[in-house]
Amino acid sequence: MTISHWIDGQEDAGTSGRLLDVTNPATGVVSGQVALADAADAERAIAGAAAAATAWGETSLARRTQVVFAFRELLNARKGELAEIITSEHGKVFSDAMGEIARGQEVVEFACGINHLLKGGHSPSASTGVDVHSLRAPLGVVGIISPFNFPAMVPMWFFPVAIAAGNAVVLKPSEKDPSASLWLARLWREAGLPDGVFTVLQGDKVAVDALLTDERVKAVSFVGSTPIAQYVYETASAHGKRVQALGGAKNHMVVLPDADLDLAADSAVNAGFGSAGERCMAISVLVAVGGIADELVARIADRAGDVVVGDGRRRQGGGGEKEPDMGPLVTQAHRDKVSSFIDAGEEAGAKVVVDGRTVQADGAADGFWLGPTLFDHVTPQMSIYTEEIFGPVLSVVRVETYEDAIELVNANPYGNGTAIFTNDGGAARRFENDVEVGMIGVNVPIPVPVAYYSFGGWKNSLFGDTHAHGTEGVHFFTRGKVVTSRWPEPTTEARALALGMPT
Ligand code: NAD
Repeated sequence: MTISHWIDGQEDAGTSGRLLDVTNPATGVVSGQVALADAADAERAIAGAAAAATAWGETSLARRTQVVFAFRELLNARKGELAEIITSEHGKVFSDAMGEIARGQEVVEFACGINHLLKGGHSPSASTGVDVHSLRAPLGVVGIISPFNFPAMVPMWFFPVAIAAGNAVVLKPSEKDPSASLWLARLWREAGLPDGVFTVLQGDKVAVDALLTDERVKAVSFVGSTPIAQYVYETASAHGKRVQALGGAKNHMVVLPDADLDLAADSAVNAGFGSAGERCMAISVLVAVGGIADELVARIADRAGDVVVGDGRRRQGGGGEKEPDMGPLVTQAHRDKVSSFIDAGEEAGAKVVVDGRTVQADGAADGFWLGPTLFDHVTPQMSIYTEEIFGPVLSVVRVETYEDAIELVNANPYGNGTAIFTNDGGAARRFENDVEVGMIGVNVPIPVPVAYYSFGGWKNSLFGDTHAHGTEGVHFFTRGKVVTSRWPEPTTEARALALGMPT
């Protein structure tokens, strides 16, 4: 099966002749081949979007939001189909795939009410006989480049807002799990979106570079690893585009001595090992403050031992089958890379409390399995601390004081998410002000903002100055205009030449 592009409202197999295997991570079996675009494919995709953009931007707000609303209804009714696709290409368990879609759907719902945020201001009689009003116009064609770990949610952080605001979107999904994007494209057609307003360009760096350099693409939203985010930011900016490029993460969960240790242990396991740690908001470092580390590590280890790893397509059914807690990693290469980080941590002297390398998975022998891994006595010099592992590996760093914890978090080059666990409101409030991170949880381990706020990190976790969705998303996908107008009274006849600065 070839997983194709979606251009001008239909599947397009492309002309490059370049194909890449797509694998089910729970079985290791190749399930299809994705078309990788060349320059000619990218040209067709961008030209199709450019041809559709003007008419869509001129379509009434009422009609645009009706289409987004119809998309929301279809998505809500049929999201199980999409979740199955995600599970079979990404590997995350079905309920987690449904959760990803629910968070994306929130942004679709937010975009249904975009009318309110596209309203301009109006100042009658700003000067004598002069009125001023502002409006927000769409940009035209915008590009979205997404990572493998959320094949539905991350594109949905951007495209509902971009489309509702009147732009045409070209989505370049991850080549590791590309089928979700085609399902979404078909849904847009059913919802009544005109051909060309939502385009999918499958591929790798060739497709990305076309979006970054083509003059018709006015803005780029990127999510992925930090080196590529920086490359995308620099290249697209150099080509005159607006860019928001969200990068990698190393999220710290700080646990103060007064915290509820059972809540902290549950949260560390859920946020460390959910989706096999392949979340940009996963907790990868637990900072144990004061004398609680022994007790906390014991409680986490106890829970981690209960995590069932298996094929995420297994669901709670009539036969009494139970869904596993955690699926495989996305590819064999990624599984091996994460496993080699565990080797390196052990060699560097960290204590392996729970070892995921020996996991007994409930699934096919050739699946890309790795179980939850817990390290204690990790130091900031070890590679398991300095690198983004992006797998089910949780490192515990022990510190003496709150100040030590803040120093550690703020010295880290990433600043995506963080959390504090405490029962002390004053300490939580202080943390909120002290910490140099974009998204903060207080007794909440994965503080992904709701859709009407904006998502984004600081430092190496985001290049550009605009976060995703919420009001910042609406601003990113529109340009402001201010109109100053004077309508002389019909009786006005006098000449009024005045060459000085209008005041
Ligand atoms: P990735 O950087 O490898 O790929 C992201 C996108 O860039 C893909 O579409 C890919 O095809 C493209 N790409 C890859 N190499 C490229 C190159 N050399 N030139 C141009 N384009 C290229 O990331 P990934 O492995 O798919 O996703 C995991 C990463 O994404 C992690 O680092 C994770 O933290 C990050 N992520 C961040 C956020 C966030 O909100 N900050 C959210 C999700 C994922």
